[in-house]
Amino acid sequence: MNLHLNKLDDEAGRIAALKRIDALTYTSEASFKHVTGLLKLILEMEMVSINFITEDKQIMKARQGLDLAESPRELAFCNITIRKYEPLIIEDTHQDTRVRDNPFVTGAPFLRSYIGAPLTTVDGYNLGTICAFDPRPRTFTEREVAMIRKCAELVMNQLDLRNQANLDFLTEVANRRSFLAGLENEMARQRRSKANATVAFLDIDFFKRVNDIFGHPTGDRVLREFADIVVAQSRQNDLVARLGGEEFAVLLPDTDLDAARIWAERMREKVAETRFDGENALKLTVSVGLAAVDGTQTTPDGVMHMGDVALYEAKRQGRDRVTML
Ligand code: GH3
Ligand code: MG
Ligand code: MG
Repeated sequence: MNLHLNKLDDEAGRIAALKRIDALTYTSEASFKHVTGLLKLILEMEMVSINFITEDKQIMKARQGLDLAESPRELAFCNITIRKYEPLIIEDTHQDTRVRDNPFVTGAPFLRSYIGAPLTTVDGYNLGTICAFDPRPRTFTEREVAMIRKCAELVMNQLDLRNQANLDFLTEVANRRSFLAGLENEMARQRRSKANATVAFLDIDFFKRVNDIFGHPTGDRVLREFADIVVAQSRQNDLVARLGGEEFAVLLPDTDLDAARIWAERMREKVAETRFDGENALKLTVSVGLAAVDGTQTTPDGVMHMGDVALYEAKRQGRDRVTML
């Protein structure tokens, strides 16, 4: 871990890692609860929690014995813990100048002892902690410290697995499954707030020729470059996915059909002017079908079908174009 020591001062990198690992997106954290439950049994402490530290807050993602969903960052014990790669141990808060005036010590829940292990990414960023508190002072054995370290590894492992399950292996954008989940979320939001969203379905034209002429490995490289272009043309909150083969989709929140058409035309032009695969300088075009998420369709399948039809129409009309129904 010494290799990573400089990362402890890289706050911008840490925030980017938090975003990349997407630790905060999912509200149901059943797998985390197993780990907090386990740690509570091991340590026999009153409160156990998994926390992520954002720019200004501590967010409790999974907690037991603790009725608090977030706190200001500067009050968080875990904000001290993430400055090192080692667990932080406070046997008695009353004897520790760093925390003895903390409102959670001087007031409810009157914390007296703390142990927290940083949640460290493989590239050395501390995203947050798994930690335990108790209203009684206590000491910790080496074995207990080793256990909480292991629990931190388990949490990071859960995050990695979840991310792998949601990503397309080749291009590292979202896969079909997580796209459908994102679309479902957006449709639920749409029902509450009447916000308009649009889905753009993109299918590379005559892609089979790339494989036939240059071979499958070139085809794979082109797909990765294509995905990079789509990501570069999209905003932070857009959900870019590879649905399969040479077909991609982008969910554009808060974007009506007119705005989506402008976006899609720019996207189409960008692809047409790009030379793919280095020296091969391949020229490609893309067809785009747009489907509004405006309440007309009530299920993700309905939206996907509408996009299919719009895309088919773009192909039928001669490709390299944007169509909507
Ligand atoms: P159209 O303009 O009608 O979309 O023509 P097309 O050739 O793009 O469409 P078609 O669906 O006939 O062919 C898609 C091709 O995409 C077939 C397959 O060889 C290729 N393909 C699908 N998945 C992958 C992949 O993961 N890697 C590579 N290299 N090629 C893939
Ligand atoms: Mg195609
Ligand atoms: Mg296709």
